[in-house]
Amino acid sequence: MKFGGTSVADPEKILRAAERAVQARRKGQDVVVVVSAPGEMTDELIDLAHRVSKEPDARELDALLATGEQMSIALFAMACRSLGAPAISLTGPQAGILADERHTSSRILEIRPQKILRELSAGKVVAVAGFQGVNPQEDVTTLGRGGSDLTAVALAAVMKASHCEIFTDVKGVYTADPRIVPEARKIARISYEEMLELADAGAQVMQARSIDMANRYGVRVQVRSSFQAGPGTWIEKIGEGPMEDATVSSVALDKGEVRLTLVEVPDKPGIAARVITELAKRDIPLDMIVQSAPTHAGVNDISLMTPRPSAGTAKAALEELARRIGARRVDLAEAVAKVTLVGTGFRRHPAVAAKMFGALADAGINILMISTTDLKLCCVMDSRHAETAVRVLHKLFKLGRR
Ligand code: ADP
Ligand code: ASP
Ligand code: MG
Repeated sequence: MKFGGTSVADPEKILRAAERAVQARRKGQDVVVVVSAPGEMTDELIDLAHRVSKEPDARELDALLATGEQMSIALFAMACRSLGAPAISLTGPQAGILADERHTSSRILEIRPQKILRELSAGKVVAVAGFQGVNPQEDVTTLGRGGSDLTAVALAAVMKASHCEIFTDVKGVYTADPRIVPEARKIARISYEEMLELADAGAQVMQARSIDMANRYGVRVQVRSSFQAGPGTWIEKIGEGPMEDATVSSVALDKGEVRLTLVEVPDKPGIAARVITELAKRDIPLDMIVQSAPTHAGVNDISLMTPRPSAGTAKAALEELARRIGARRVDLAEAVAKVTLVGTGFRRHPAVAAKMFGALADAGINILMISTTDLKLCCVMDSRHAETAVRVLHKLFKLGRR
């Protein structure tokens, strides 16, 4: 069972979450609970770090961020005990979650669950801190934003749990963010592939890396409400859908990225490689790398999207490179958002893209960048128009109806 930040935001909610774990334990199930930091605490800790340092040291930032989850597990274990069930809290390192060096976006290398297993066999509910591990230097690391989902799925995988329950503040995975589109419909079952597209496109409800892990290890995941009863959404292996049709299944919004453009780059072999190498060296995540066709003057533009926190580093790296390769300048567009239609069969059915772009045009929305695959149609636009775009597309493709 994993409880997200909103589900452990205050003492009453912690007690309510603990009640669920205790009930499952009383039914004879062994329960491992993963908890996130309460409420917005991770954001607040990041702000705090930036108030003492412009560029906080990554090791110390991880040391700080890990405290949010540690607060939650201790309170969770106390809450279980006050409900009469033995329980124990374990930090990521105590739980045997071994991760690599990359501070703030560390990968899980291995899990040694012996201590968890010992505590389970002593009859305890085990509360494990999400989002953290220990690296080979014995330093605590964090697993990227939303990383408690990854902790939960990884533990379910190594412990061969029957499934992994993700408790959150919505009833499941919807056809669009229900906060933006009130008519959005809860999806009963979704394949790993589609959920991965949706998560990659910015649907916050599950961390993309956790879905990749669930797929690789065949962990069935149920996303459900912490506050309401009833079934949620199952993320699992699903046989292929209709083979020849195009289906549009959901629409996602991502406001977490910025666009960088290297303007008037000499059109020569090897330039794109040098651009991306500079960013790869710094471990900067990239998306939508687009190179325009060369002009008569023998130059082109290279644009890409990168997560907001990487913008400064990425821009500085590209500016330095621009000087060396003779590109004119680097533009940074911060007020942008990415709206993605997720589904299947888009390559064979260009009418879907035509309909999407047409509807955005009718709504007076200018598209800044487009990228498409068979499984998604993705448009970058001014962030002021993004919510409208999501609602327009949700309605256009009648996603609220079955
Ligand atoms: P937690 O704190 O439990 O990890 P998150 O805030 O990370 O919760 O994720 C839940 C939020 O994801 C919801 O409140 C909702 O606004 C947002 N969300 C975005 N897209 C979707 C979607 N397609 N279906 C459900 N929720 C979505
Ligand atoms: N607390 C971490 C975050 O806000 C991890 C999580 O909630 O999954 O990103
Ligand atoms: Mg989350």
